[in-house]
Amino acid sequence: MDELKNIAEKAKDIIITGHMRPDGDCIGACIAVYSYLHKFYPDKNIKVYLENVPERFSFLDPDRQIISNILPEWQPDLVMVFDSSSAAMLGEAVKLFRSAKDSVCIDHHISNKGYAKINFIDGTASSTCEILYGLISDTDIDSKMAEALYMGIAFDTGVFRYSNTSRKTMEIAGKLIEKGIPFWDNIDKCFYQRTYIQAQLLGRTLLTSMLLMDGKCIFAVITRRMMEFYGASIEDTVGIIDQLRVTKGVEVAILLHETGKQEYKVSMRSNKYVDVNKIATYFGGGGHKKAAGFMMGGSVHDVVNNITEHIEAQL
Ligand code: AMP
Ligand code: MN
Ligand code: MN
Repeated sequence: MDELKNIAEKAKDIIITGHMRPDGDCIGACIAVYSYLHKFYPDKNIKVYLENVPERFSFLDPDRQIISNILPEWQPDLVMVFDSSSAAMLGEAVKLFRSAKDSVCIDHHISNKGYAKINFIDGTASSTCEILYGLISDTDIDSKMAEALYMGIAFDTGVFRYSNTSRKTMEIAGKLIEKGIPFWDNIDKCFYQRTYIQAQLLGRTLLTSMLLMDGKCIFAVITRRMMEFYGASIEDTVGIIDQLRVTKGVEVAILLHETGKQEYKVSMRSNKYVDVNKIATYFGGGGHKKAAGFMMGGSVHDVVNNITEHIEAQL
C-alpha cells in the first residue's frame, strides 16, 4: 500500500489544505489528493479548504470541491497540509491543523522544519506535486489527478525553466502526459495568457522599476493606488517578478507589494549566486534558494535598504 493510503486509512474526517494565497503547486496538490482519497475512500468525510483560488486554476476544480470558509462544525481527525513551509503560512487553517489528532505535511521548502506529526519534506524536489507523485502508485493516477499534478510541477518550475527542474521532474511530467492530458492548452491558459489589466499592470511596474547596485539588483513597487487604478487583485501581479528577474545583468529581483499602510509583501528571486531564502528567513519569512518572500513594515526606502544590505553581503 502506498504512503498516502497508509496515513489516510485510519482517519474518518479529513481536511486537505495548503498555504495562504494558494498557488498552482498548492492547489494542484490539494486537488490531486482529494480526487485520490475520494476515489479510494468514498465513505470518508474529506474536505478541501483553501483561501480564494485564482480564476486561472479553477478548471482544476470543476466540481467546486474547494471550500474557502471554515465551518465551526469541522472537527478533523487528520489534517493534511501541502506546500506550506510553516504552520503560520496556513493562515486561517492553522486552527484546524492544531486541533486535529493527526497531521501530515508534504512540502519542498528548505525552510520547512517539519511542523506536523508526520512530515514528507524534500528540499530538492521541484514542487510539492513532485513529492506527492512519489507517494502514490502511478497506476492509481487518473487523468484528472494527472492534470492537477502536472500543473503544480509546471507552476513551481516556471514551466520547466528553473534550475529546480531535474531529470526526475521531467520523467514524472512525462508519466503524467501519458495519462492523456491537454497540457499544451492548460499551460497557455495558466502561464502565458494575460488579461488586459494584467498586461497594463506589468507594463506600469516595469516602467517604474529601478536598478540598484550597478544593475545587479532590480526593484519595483506595486502600490495600493496602482491596484485600485487598474481594478487589479493580487492574482493579477503573478509573473511580474519573473519578468524583472530576466532583466539582463540582474542577479536579484525584488518586488514590493503594498498590503497596508507602510506594510509590504516582499517577493525575491535570484538568478545564480544569491540565496534569497536566507534573507527571507532573516526577516521572518522563507522559501527557496532562488525564490523567497516575507512581510515587512516601513517606508519603501527602509525596506529596500534593509534588503540590499543583505544582498551586498552575499555578492
Ligand atoms: P512569492 O514571492 O510570494 O511567490 O513566494 C516565493 C516563495 O517564498 C514561495 O515558495 C513562498 O512559499 C515563499 N514565501 C513567500 N512569502 C513567505 C513568507 N512570509 N513566509 C514563508 N515563506 C514565504
Ligand atoms: Mn506554493
Ligand atoms: Mn511549491
